[in-house]
Amino acid sequence: MDLGLNGKIAVVTGASRGLGFATALILAQEGAKVAINARSIGGLEKAAERITQNCGAPVFILPGDLSEAGTARQIVETAAKHYGGVDILIANAGGPPPGTLEQLDEAAWSKAFDLTLMSNVRLIRAALPYLKESNAASVLTITSYAAKQPIPNLLLSNTLRAGVLGLTKSLALELGNQGIRVNSILPGWTRTERVTELMAARSNANRTTIEEELAKQAKESPFNRIAEPEEFARAAAFLVSPAASYITGVMLTVDGGMYKGTI
Ligand code: NAD
Repeated sequence: MDLGLNGKIAVVTGASRGLGFATALILAQEGAKVAINARSIGGLEKAAERITQNCGAPVFILPGDLSEAGTARQIVETAAKHYGGVDILIANAGGPPPGTLEQLDEAAWSKAFDLTLMSNVRLIRAALPYLKESNAASVLTITSYAAKQPIPNLLLSNTLRAGVLGLTKSLALELGNQGIRVNSILPGWTRTERVTELMAARSNANRTTIEEELAKQAKESPFNRIAEPEEFARAAAFLVSPAASYITGVMLTVDGGMYKGTI
């Protein structure tokens, strides 16, 4: 099946590593013109080089911290100017820190609100004029299965991702008549640097190894393993592609069956 991504312009944020990087790589392999964002130029340059080495496509880099209010507009406009528009926006960033109610203060909540919820609002708002001009407009938010089934000690993520799902569904309804599709993927545990860092924190607390902590997590899936980033990225590439032209407002868990609810 041809996904129809060839020549489409895609902005992928939080893409120097992990899920964002894996998705940018697949989009480039499918012929999309890709722009990637993260905070550090060094990390972005390395990521762009890996993508170019893999599939020969040039990648435009957009350094900027998405927890700061002005970054979203600046990077989207820079990408649109460089490529002549935006067809696809994948809104992603690093996750908020772990913690319980008693551990998280006002400043932590405020920073997480900006990074995890408002970055999506600001990115989509900035991309809207370009998406309206596109004949293949699509937005994907990257959230977490924690929005459906809270994960212990990830209070900020559990709370704010649910807000992003509300935003995603609302905008699917609000923007559909302008030909703009808006979906979300709710990843389960996937083998990225963030997960290794979270497991290192758990292994310190529990006096175990990272592998033991990963194995505990893997048991949550009937496959008894966590996901590889490519397994997430293939679903993401399909959802943002013209091949998914009648799919909008979808909250797709890519979690190997970790979420135990029926709806
Ligand atoms: P990661 O930490 O490995 O990668 C995050 C990317 O975002 C990196 O490129 C990083 O440089 C960038 N980034 C971080 N903060 C940023 C900021 N303020 N501004 C711009 N860029 C920033 O994370 P990941 O595992 O790839 O996860 C991506 C998202 O998906 C996160 O929000 C994470 O919480 C969520 N998620 C991940 C998993 C998983 O198992 N990997 C599961 C559920 C949800």
